Amino acid sequence: MAQSKLKLYNYLSKKVEEFKPVTEGKVGMYTCGPTVYDFVHIGNWRTFVFEDVLKRVLEFNGYDVTHVMNITDIDDKIIKRASDDGVDFRQITEKYEKAFRDDLGKLNIIPAGHFPKATDNITSMIQFIEVLLKKGFAYKADDGVYFSVEKFADYGKLSGLSKGNLKKGARVNDDLYDKENWSDFALWKFPPSPKASEGQAKKEPSWPAPFGEGRPGWHIECSAMSMALLGEHFDIHSGGVDLLFPHHENEIAQSEAATGKKFVNYWMEGEHLLVGGEKMAKSLNNIFTLSDLSKRGIEPLSLRYLFLTAHYRSKLNFTWESLEAAQNALSNLRGEVAGWDAPKIGCSEFEGDFKNATRDDLDMPRAIATMWEMVKSDYPGSAKRQSILVMDKVLGLGLADVKKSVLPKGAKELIDRRETLRAEGKFEESDKLRKELLEMGVEVEDTPEGPKWRLKKI
Ligand code: AMP
Ligand code: ZN
Repeated sequence: MAQSKLKLYNYLSKKVEEFKPVTEGKVGMYTCGPTVYDFVHIGNWRTFVFEDVLKRVLEFNGYDVTHVMNITDIDDKIIKRASDDGVDFRQITEKYEKAFRDDLGKLNIIPAGHFPKATDNITSMIQFIEVLLKKGFAYKADDGVYFSVEKFADYGKLSGLSKGNLKKGARVNDDLYDKENWSDFALWKFPPSPKASEGQAKKEPSWPAPFGEGRPGWHIECSAMSMALLGEHFDIHSGGVDLLFPHHENEIAQSEAATGKKFVNYWMEGEHLLVGGEKMAKSLNNIFTLSDLSKRGIEPLSLRYLFLTAHYRSKLNFTWESLEAAQNALSNLRGEVAGWDAPKIGCSEFEGDFKNATRDDLDMPRAIATMWEMVKSDYPGSAKRQSILVMDKVLGLGLADVKKSVLPKGAKELIDRRETLRAEGKFEESDKLRKELLEMGVEVEDTPEGPKWRLKKI
């Protein structure tokens, strides 16, 4: 099996490209993280799982990945939430950041090497804005400091939105802005936030800066923090597809304007999780969280399995039925793995196909199909166990933790007796033994190769 090259779809070129790192053997990767004002919903988790698969595939291909994910701990939504609850904004952000970090583990998402927080990096953002002011890309207005999109000749190169959509002189101060039109965007905001109540406005968080006391706009944090940790030019930047415009477009503009260099080589955006055909979003009131899943007896890894069955660049419509089917598939998979002996030489042909699928712009549906072909193949259990351990480095389904099942005492004798009874055509008696086995927690399935057993509820 010839090994194919790692190819990734780049939203900048709008093509699938061979991946070439800036530095041989290394990857710098920045993923836009959560805004910690509430629990993360499963739509957000789809993007975070896609990014985890991306990182795992890069590592699988021998790259040493430095992964940075920011935590947005100051923005309009946070200020509004603190204002509604009448508390300091840190009480909100600390609670939800902790919940986010705990939930990463439940989905087997490998934590980023760095989780910089916006409020810990205000100084570098101020310096960044000063550079933009000095170079003439930014200007001061009554309510903040703005980036002038007209000044940046390449504006629109990521999203493809044309200058025709520029409302000349229009400015956006709100973090929830117009998705269709170009506007100058806020790099720094003077209080009060448009979302704060009167009482809260007095207590609104702000930091001193040479251009006036205030707080950062949303976009600047990602440019300042990614550059601080990964350098001015690095490999991969990703997020959900809703971030393409304006967030990622604005990141490119302010970064390249400040440094005069290309910011990022590969822009990767994950498609949305939908519900009833609409994007899952808090504002649409159609979200579910991991705790909603657990109330229905669904474990987080079933959600991860579901996400793996769709390509990251395809929309995925969420239904409880599809999630239950994913839970069954994962349980069946664990049942198979539990039947296998200790790992020995793997099934190289399937491993090769699996790797090639992941290298083909992370074609996880094909990788999952190959994995199932391997599971159902005639290879001995020890070979399958070896291969599943290799595949699980990318899948992240915790399959290394599935131990070989041991039959309860006396069950082997019952299985053998049942076989003899079946061979003699005594089906009523053999059925009784099947029930007896079930009570012991052993399920028996009759296959052309003879009876196969597994323990219930693994
Ligand atoms: P936020 O906390 O709103 O900044 O979102 C965190 C991440 O989740 C971003 O990368 C978003 O693009 C992504 N995201 C938000 N909604 C969805 C959705 N319905 N499906 C997939 N990703 C989403
Ligand atoms: Zn970002």
